[in-house]
Amino acid sequence: MHFRFLVLLLGIAIALLSVQLVTDTMREVRQLREARLAEALSITSVIARSLEKQFDIIELEDIEDILAKVRVHPDIVKLSVVDRDLTIYLDGNPRTSPVASFNYSDVQLNALKIAATDFKISGDRIKVGEPLMSKGIATGSVMVEFRNPGFWQTLDQIIWGKLLTIAPILITAMLFAMGLVTQITQPLRKLSNSAKAVSEGNLDQSVDERGPKEIRQLGVSFNTMIATVKANIEQICQLAYVDRVTQLPNREYFRMELTRAIKRAQRNGHSGALLFVDLDGFKRVNDTLGHDLGDRLLTAFADRMKALVRTEDTISWNSSATPIEGGEPLSEDAAKEKQVLARLGGDEFTLLLSEIREETDAAMVSRRIIKAMGEPFEIGGTEVRIGASVGIATFPRDGSNYQQVLKSADMAMYLAKEEGKNTFRYFSEELNHRASHRLEVETDLRNALAQGQLELHYQPKVDCRTGAPVSMEALVRWRHPQRGMVRPGDFIRIAEETGLILPLGDWVLRAACAQITVFASQGLEMPMAVNISPQQFEQPDFSERLLELVGQEKIRPGLLELEITEAMAMSDPGRALDHIRKLKRAGIRFAIDDFGTGHSSLSQLSRLPFDVFKIDRSFIDALGDDADQHGFAIVRTIVAMAQSLNYETVAEGVETVEQQQMLAEMGCTLSQGYLFARPMPANDFISWVRARQAEPSRQAKGKRKAA
Ligand code: C2E
Ligand code: CA
Ligand code: CA
Repeated sequence: MHFRFLVLLLGIAIALLSVQLVTDTMREVRQLREARLAEALSITSVIARSLEKQFDIIELEDIEDILAKVRVHPDIVKLSVVDRDLTIYLDGNPRTSPVASFNYSDVQLNALKIAATDFKISGDRIKVGEPLMSKGIATGSVMVEFRNPGFWQTLDQIIWGKLLTIAPILITAMLFAMGLVTQITQPLRKLSNSAKAVSEGNLDQSVDERGPKEIRQLGVSFNTMIATVKANIEQICQLAYVDRVTQLPNREYFRMELTRAIKRAQRNGHSGALLFVDLDGFKRVNDTLGHDLGDRLLTAFADRMKALVRTEDTISWNSSATPIEGGEPLSEDAAKEKQVLARLGGDEFTLLLSEIREETDAAMVSRRIIKAMGEPFEIGGTEVRIGASVGIATFPRDGSNYQQVLKSADMAMYLAKEEGKNTFRYFSEELNHRASHRLEVETDLRNALAQGQLELHYQPKVDCRTGAPVSMEALVRWRHPQRGMVRPGDFIRIAEETGLILPLGDWVLRAACAQITVFASQGLEMPMAVNISPQQFEQPDFSERLLELVGQEKIRPGLLELEITEAMAMSDPGRALDHIRKLKRAGIRFAIDDFGTGHSSLSQLSRLPFDVFKIDRSFIDALGDDADQHGFAIVRTIVAMAQSLNYETVAEGVETVEQQQMLAEMGCTLSQGYLFARPMPANDFISWVRARQAEPSRQAKGKRKAA
């Protein structure tokens, strides 16, 4: 645009200049010719007047000399003088004079005949004839032939003459024009770029409101237009995507968000959940209290829901989050966190959990909702009690598109209503089962803690070479009134997910310390290892509290060993190191549990001051297996490295004599496993140790058995 504008200007300038040149040249040619004619006439006349007085008197050679001098004039092509009888011919050239032997020009003869000036203009020549007068009669005539300037010759002269003056003017004018054009086209270009961006959907545009008046106005209008469009879109979004009563997102918005979340889940291989929440008894309230109060109840319900979930309260349009179907406006992290609460209509609400760790996580949220909605609402001075039924569908399991997932959640919601309301149901039977089991365990576990159903069992760790008991690991057990003895595998995870692990872990530490004292009083001073859960270790005051406990129980800190996993040590090495240092300073020992299952490198771990590596059972299992040379190599490497770093090694889950022998040969320090003893109650443990101590050479016996 800029360039084309310049070319246009240049073209116009050249055209104007050319027209000017042509008219100038024509005028000048005319003037020049007139001047030349006048000049020719006067020159000829001067020659004639000067000759006529002398023509009869002076010598012909002298006349010839005069003519020769005149001929030098650049515009004179030819000149000649003849006498009345045409006997003399002079032309300033001695070779052709004095006698003419060729044709005389018309004007020369005419001038002689009519005794007056005659001339003839032909193309590029002017011929003038002038009589030489003496006493009233013509005694001879002069003819001078002049060059007459032509058009192109004149043009050439004019151009060269003018170019010198025009060129600087032209250049200055072009520079000026360029500046001017830039001033006009630059804002226009910006404007055009902004308009293009707007047409592509990016409304975050504004242009400069500066420059020439018209451009400025254009800028102002553009900015106003964008502001109006934005406001309109915002309004349209509000109308299209926001529920009028509760100000929550509506069904349409929810459809887009759910569709997007399902696609993400399918792509990334995770799960999400849709909670379909329906008010119990809303119809009754609406019928008895009227629609106004019904609406207010819905708003109060929505507000209470909002307080429960992590959700954006308003849908506001911005260019980065255009609610366009299939678009992906959020960053992965933001999308993961995203929870969308919407009102589909009537008394139906939906909550989208974009990403969940466990499908049964949705049950926890549902319970929170049901509990919160069970509290009475205060509407128009009356206390209103309603409840909520929740149907849960997970995706992609229960549907691969919006309709399917919504339908599944809706069906699950009906099941919940049928089950007596104020409850939740999964669409999938299996999940229902798992969720109810989890709920049961959770409730029971709370009771277990309160009612003292937990106890510790102790599994010995023996010297790898001699088989003598050296230390023990405390493992929690739950004596369930109906289910009997429950192993930690069935409840530790749930305890961790519900936060119950903290009181549980406290109980374990307390019980372990107490038992160390009891064992000591029975003459058994043996180190005891206790398992620590990540959440416990993440507590900033963990080490202080433990040291306080150790102080209260008056146990020797060297008798306590904490088992933590690689992941715990590596997730926040700063904090881990802090706890480890403090506790180690007091004399408490540290073991890495399940070593080899994590992904941390030995060099990373060796920077943390541990005392023991507990080699995971999976590696020990592989030991007896001839086919698994790989497992053998791993265990041997771990043991060798641990030795070089001065760590003790404990082999977990030793079940066979072969395993035991291999470990002993590799130089493993301690062994723990069913080969020696299962975890047992404190009393059994002390009897086992006594019996074992009375009969020290079990290893040899084992060897004999194996043989
Ligand atoms: P862990 O720390 O790896 O404990 C070793 C598990 O292996 C124990 O299972 C033990 O009974 C079992 N075991 C020992 N020797 C053998 C064997 O030769 N063969 C087989 N197949 N298993 C053997 P348990 O007691 O069921 O504990 C399971 C897990 O629960 C423990 O794994 C530990 O991670 C966790 N846990 C146990 N007690 C506590 C506790 O007080 N606090 C915390 N946070 N976690 C605990
Ligand atoms: Ca352990
Ligand atoms: Ca272990």
